Amino acid sequence: MRIKVLGCYGGQLLGFHLSSFLVNDSILLDAGAPTESLTLEEQHRIRHIFISHVHLDHIKDIAFLADNRSLKRLGGDPHNRCMVVHSLPENIDYLRTHFINDIIWPDFTRIPSVEDPILRLEPMIAESTVEVDGVRITPIMVNHPVPCTAFLLEENGAQFIYSADTGSTDRLWQVANAQPNLQGIIVDCSFPNNQQFLADISGHMTPRGVEQELKKLDRLGEIPIYFFHMKPETLNTMTDEINNAAIPLAKTLSQIDEFII
Ligand SMILES: [Zn+2]
Ligand SMILES: [Zn+2]
Repeated sequence: MRIKVLGCYGGQLLGFHLSSFLVNDSILLDAGAPTESLTLEEQHRIRHIFISHVHLDHIKDIAFLADNRSLKRLGGDPHNRCMVVHSLPENIDYLRTHFINDIIWPDFTRIPSVEDPILRLEPMIAESTVEVDGVRITPIMVNHPVPCTAFLLEENGAQFIYSADTGSTDRLWQVANAQPNLQGIIVDCSFPNNQQFLADISGHMTPRGVEQELKKLDRLGEIPIYFFHMKPETLNTMTDEINNAAIPLAKTLSQIDEFII
């Protein structure tokens, strides 16, 4: 399994992309950055988009991926196929009602036709595994102000976890502790330590919060921990705090990172 970081920040600034991870060329975890990180041909290889929750920084490029694909479809490419958006049932309803609704953005679930659309929206149930293109993906509920899931990925007997946006949570660590060959965890760390209050009310974590949280991980020290969703304005402070937290195998993610597991 290859996981490429397209964007790993909790804010958008020049050079800092929003959350988005490409798995094996055809699977996208959250859609914060693919159209500004991938060539058009690479975008056209995406078949499945897994959405953790509907905050705009995780869904915005569903709109532009669909638009880019529609031009290819109009060009008559016979290999063009639809993209399937997977998320919790309530998130699918939010996308339909508030985003791809023919007001904010054209309804690409009906373009160019209902029978053969650019986008299909597919509800998925927490802790129910979906297998696409050889990768098993399981959503795990986490703690955020709106319905939000982490994703457990598994291919060829190796597992990897993407926490998505979350404050302190329990179920995710129980699931992590149950994996026999967990190769890494990407974990939310959005605010510096002096903004713990903001992290608490917005369902995110600080470096100190992650340090506490990782006490729930049985094999801490054996599993790499990757921090993501940092606010770019406070990145230097947060990087220092993460380094000072002395969490074993900790790394602040960057947009050039790619994992082969
Ligand atoms: Zn969020
Ligand atoms: Zn976010």
